[in-house]
Amino acid sequence: MRDRGAQKATPQMGRTGAADPAGISDSTSAFRDSVRAFVTKEVLPRAAELDVHGEFPHALFKRLAELGYLGLRYPEEVGGQGADFATCCVFYEELAAGSLSLAAIAAMQSLMGTHFVYRYGTDAQRREYLEPALRGEKIGTFALTEPEAGSDLGAIRTRATRTGDGWRLRGSKTWITNAPVADFLTVGAKTSDERGLGNIALFLLDARTPGFEVGKPIEKLGTRSSLTSEVHIDCELPADALLGAEGEGVKNVGGLLSEIRVMTAALAVGLSRRALADSAVYASERKAFG
Ligand SMILES: Cc1cc2nc3c(=O)[nH]c(=O)nc-3n(C[C@H](O)[C@H](O)[C@H](O)COP(=O)(O)OP(=O)(O)OC[C@H]3O[C@@H](n4cnc5c(N)ncnc54)[C@H](O)[C@@H]3O)c2cc1C
Repeated sequence: MRDRGAQKATPQMGRTGAADPAGISDSTSAFRDSVRAFVTKEVLPRAAELDVHGEFPHALFKRLAELGYLGLRYPEEVGGQGADFATCCVFYEELAAGSLSLAAIAAMQSLMGTHFVYRYGTDAQRREYLEPALRGEKIGTFALTEPEAGSDLGAIRTRATRTGDGWRLRGSKTWITNAPVADFLTVGAKTSDERGLGNIALFLLDARTPGFEVGKPIEKLGTRSSLTSEVHIDCELPADALLGAEGEGVKNVGGLLSEIRVMTAALAVGLSRRALADSAVYASERKAFG
C-alpha cells in the first residue's frame, strides 16, 4: 500500500470510473489508500479498547466528519462529498477492517440516521439536523424495531395521532443504534390502528423533546462502542415532523434498503478480511506440540 496519509474526501476522489469493468478508478483506489491509512494510524490502535469500554468514540466520530466521510453520499450543497455508492462501500469496507463498531456508527449516521431528513425534510430541518450531522456535531439515528416487531413491520405499535396543530407520538422502540447519544431520530409509527404496512409513516423527533427517554441499554458481545438501547416516546411534535407522505413510510424505507444490504456486505468483507489476516498472523506465530 502506498502511504498517502489520511486526506479529506473530495468529490474527485469519490467517483468510480464507469469505463473500468470493475468500476474502480484510480481516484477510488487513491481514496481506498487514504481511508486505509487513516484506519491504520488512528482507528486500529484504539479499536480493541473502544469495544472493551463500550463507550461512544466521540473523538474518532469527529475525525470521520473532518475527513468528509460522514457526508460521502450527500451532495455538496448540504455539506456532502457527492461520492457514488461504490466509493461509499470502499469506505465501509476499509473502516470495518479497523473497527466494526466505528463502521456501524458511521453507517447509521450517513445512511438511515440522516437520509430521511435529507430526502423529505424542510430546508430548516436540513439546516438544523442534516448539515450539523455531516459535520459530526449532531448524531442521528433511525427507530423502527419494537420488542414485538422486527421483520414483521406491520405489527409495530408506535402510534402517531393528529392533534390540532401537529402530532402526538407514543410508543417504545428497541435495538436502536446510537440512541443513548442521539440528538435526533427518524421514528416509524402507525397513523391508524390497522395491522399491515400501509399506514406506517416516518417522523423526525428531536431527542430534547419532552417525553422522549432513552431506556435500558442492550449489552452486546461485540461492536460494543456502537451503543444500542431501548427508547420510550410520548411526545408532541409539530406538523412538519412528518417526513414523507402518510402511508409511505415502508416504501420510503424500502428505497434505501437495497443500499443498506450492499453496505452491510461491504462491512462483512472488511471484517472478514481483518479476521483472516489476524488468524494468519496467529497461526504463523503460535508454537504448539513442541
Ligand atoms: C446490532 C443491531 C443494531 C440494530 N440497530 C437498529 C436500529 O438502529 N434501528 C432499528 O429500528 N432496528 C435496529 N436493529 C433491529 C433490527 O432491524 C432487527 O433485529 C431486525 O429487523 C430483525 O428483527 P428481529 O430481531 O425482531 O427478528 P425477527 O423478525 O423476530 O426474526 C427472527 C428470525 O425469524 C426469521 N423470520 C422473520 N420473518 C419470517 C417469516 N415470515 N417466516 C420465517 N422466518 C422469518 C428471521 O429471518 C430471523 O431469522 C438492530 C439490530 C441489531 C442486532
